[in-house]
Amino acid sequence: MISIDFSWFALLYVGAGMAIIFGFWFYYDIRDRRLYQEVRDRVTFHCIKCGKIYTDNREKNVSGCPQCGFENARLKF
Ligand SMILES: [Zn+2]
Repeated sequence: MISIDFSWFALLYVGAGMAIIFGFWFYYDIRDRRLYQEVRDRVTFHCIKCGKIYTDNREKNVSGCPQCGFENARLKF
């Protein structure tokens, strides 16, 4: 039988637990980024001419309304 002292057993036990936790952490972080990053990169605009609420790319501060074409500023909360 393999003999292992308690300190090595505790180190392996804690190390395996931490590896599992960090593995799930990285897996769900990558999965979350893949699924929701496109939604996070969009910001909301409100057309002051026709009242339509729409989203567009984050880098734009002014965006044209898809319904009437009026240029609207980004909503700030
Ligand atoms: Zn509009």
